[in-house]
Amino acid sequence: ADRDGPRIRHVAYAAPLDVPVRARATLERDLRTGIDEEQFSVMYQPIVALDGPDLGDGGVPAMVEALVRWEHPERGTVPPADFIPVAESTGLIVPLGRWILERTCRQAVRWHATYGAAAPRLSVNVSARQLQEPDFAADVERVLTATGLAPHRLTVEITETATLHPSCVQSVHALRALGVRISLDDFGTGHSSLSTLQSCPVDELKLDRAFTGTCTAPDGRTVAAAVIQMARALRLATVAEGIETEAQARRLRELGYPHGQGYHFAKPQPAERIGELLAAGEALAEAR
Ligand code: C2E
Ligand code: MG
Ligand code: MG
Ligand code: MG
Repeated sequence: ADRDGPRIRHVAYAAPLDVPVRARATLERDLRTGIDEEQFSVMYQPIVALDGPDLGDGGVPAMVEALVRWEHPERGTVPPADFIPVAESTGLIVPLGRWILERTCRQAVRWHATYGAAAPRLSVNVSARQLQEPDFAADVERVLTATGLAPHRLTVEITETATLHPSCVQSVHALRALGVRISLDDFGTGHSSLSTLQSCPVDELKLDRAFTGTCTAPDGRTVAAAVIQMARALRLATVAEGIETEAQARRLRELGYPHGQGYHFAKPQPAERIGELLAAGEALAEAR
């Protein structure tokens, strides 16, 4: 009976390990099909001015962040957290990211053609895996030329992980040379925030929503204040992410954050809905 022990335990341990491997293989196969069949959609979340007169009303967005969704034929809408990691490890993020960039740049040009200067600038998330491609910046340049989007109307959101790879930093330099803005996403959650800013030039910091969440408490206020003071000293733009309450919005405005984003203002929404916001803003401006 003793000799059976290890074998039984082996079976018991092997079974649960098998499941994620198979699920991952299925996901990868589905992802390939999904890219071929364009099963993806893009939502746009408004980024609003906190220092304007309309705090909290979700008025006309200064910028919008593009957030991808997978409209899976059986699973329904799949959030990025459930497939971006697999897209990254398989390299499928490269063709998918290219599709997202082209689609969102086209949309941004449409808004600009209709609403001119009132149209929001576009912010697009880009994975380290994409930035590692030696011709990434050249690819972005081709998309900008093909769609007609002015480079300064595009911001590429990168993560701290990307700034640790020399090949990614090269892409960042090349993108900035084109006139594309670079934003450091989820700022403050990584391990090397300050050294990152020295080694990789960026134009904007996005305060991670963990810090937005604590900014109304005394200690949290100090942290959020330290970040905006540092950003000002370095002449970086700032966006506070994940604002969920009026109290957070007020606190961040009081600390001097010029822009904010979060469910308190607006959830990510389809392009048509953003168009409605812009049309309403235009009507209001004409009435004034
Ligand atoms: P992120 O770039 O930090 O995007 C912000 C995430 O926070 C989004 O989740 C957004 O829906 C969510 N969010 C916005 N406001 C609030 C709020 O007030 N409260 C809370 N709790 N959450 C809020 P989402 O859309 O699920 O995206 C998750 C992550 O997936 C993104 O984080 C980004 O890292 C990645 N991602 C999304 N779209 C793309 C893409 O097109 N390409 C790449 N490479 N990554 C993407
Ligand atoms: Mg982002
Ligand atoms: Mg973020
Ligand atoms: Mg985040």
